[in-house]
Amino acid sequence: MPSLPPTYVERIAAQLGDETQAFLRSMDEPRSYGLRINTLKLEPAGASAAMRGMTGEFGLSPVPWSGTGFSYDGGSRPGKHPYHHAGLYYIQEPSAMIAAELLDPRPGEFVLDLAAAPGGKTTQIAVKLRGVGLLVANEIHPGRARILSENVERLGIAGAVVVQAAPGELAKRLPGAFDKIMLDAPCSGEGMFRKDPAACAEWSADAVTACAARQRDILPDAAAMLKPGGRLVYSTCTFNREENEETIAWFLDLHPSFRLVSTRRMWPHRGEGEGHFAAVLEKAAEDAAEDGVPDKRPAKGVKPPRTRAGGAIAALKLYEAFAQQSLPGYALPGDGVPLLFGDSLYWYPQPAGSPLPAESLGGLRTHRPGLHLGDVRKGRFEPSHALAHAVRQEQAALVRDYPADSDAVDAYLRGEALFDDAGDGAGEAAKGWGLLCADGYPLGWFKASGGQLKNHYPKGLRTTG
Ligand code: SAM
Repeated sequence: MPSLPPTYVERIAAQLGDETQAFLRSMDEPRSYGLRINTLKLEPAGASAAMRGMTGEFGLSPVPWSGTGFSYDGGSRPGKHPYHHAGLYYIQEPSAMIAAELLDPRPGEFVLDLAAAPGGKTTQIAVKLRGVGLLVANEIHPGRARILSENVERLGIAGAVVVQAAPGELAKRLPGAFDKIMLDAPCSGEGMFRKDPAACAEWSADAVTACAARQRDILPDAAAMLKPGGRLVYSTCTFNREENEETIAWFLDLHPSFRLVSTRRMWPHRGEGEGHFAAVLEKAAEDAAEDGVPDKRPAKGVKPPRTRAGGAIAALKLYEAFAQQSLPGYALPGDGVPLLFGDSLYWYPQPAGSPLPAESLGGLRTHRPGLHLGDVRKGRFEPSHALAHAVRQEQAALVRDYPADSDAVDAYLRGEALFDDAGDGAGEAAKGWGLLCADGYPLGWFKASGGQLKNHYPKGLRTTG
């Protein structure tokens, strides 16, 4: 790590007083590592063989402020494990887990994650919603929105819509729309210094001021999208007061309909991970005049999405024929509608009263309009990789399950075709789409024919070596 900028050290000393030396010493200690179990696929209680295996192999120990969070041993490599490919967990440093815990989303709620990539908080929120309600995950940068979509898919999340918009644009479309909002704001990243030395090298007092200005642009837009009585969590991974308490004080001054419920600071020298700040804000049940009456009219220039309703029904029929044969135990999540974008069929989450019904998507860059079921190619249905993650092995008709540490799993993740070794002639006889599993957890599709399993693990996700 580059040496800490002197101005930064002076500011930390002014902020921490007696604790400054302990904080500075912690900067020379190893960083902390964490992961969060995806309880859509696995329970953390320890009953499963997978959980017991991970506890030993990764040296897991519980994170006190998150029921699904664990610290892991920095020498282990959970990001490379087949269970990571299977979406059994999300790698997230422990202190970052506090924000979604404080947001406390409940099944049935409409939730927005306004600055969502790569998806730590989005996936945590989605797991808490358990597929009931709606999660809109927004990311302004296209490349990062793509990574966010991949993580949403890997964890098998069906009830989330990934969009790419500037906060102001979204606020015009969705005033007063959400029960809960997460704003994990772009910040100067002082809590990233041990993890990412570049964050330390880039730090300056001017950068802090620029970040605070940007946060003050975004926070009112987030606030405008909250329902009266709703809860907003503002969080950063930085320590200075300018981007945290002072930004909140500035906001509260201008928005008297909001009250500060609590703030929480996590510090590395107190053994609380790399460091995070979170403030819980609540909007008064009766919207105060200064926030105005929510404008429910669609923003100007909004056109209906370029989807083909008739085409969606026809594509859904093809999906149903596929599912009857290949996924007889799987039912599409309730409260959804089929959407066809080009040749891709999605199951779009649309609970009653949704603030973002499918017909309102026009003009909004939508990276992932719900669960991607598959594509229609030459009149045939081809299941998507996202669907493999959204189902369980017992719901599929054809499964090949291998130990996570087997050569077969290794070869599959590298993208190789496999010889079907199912006994009693079953391998020779198998035909059609099936799920390749590691210890019972789906990794992706194969297509069986003539004793071979053709590999459909996406090229961009394959391992090398
Ligand atoms: N919540 C994410 C997670 O838990 O994985 C991390 C979010 S990161 C701290 C902040 C995000 O804000 C980045 O993905 C960044 O691209 C995005 N961002 C940058 N400038 C922005 C802006 N002006 N408005 C909204 N988001 C912005």
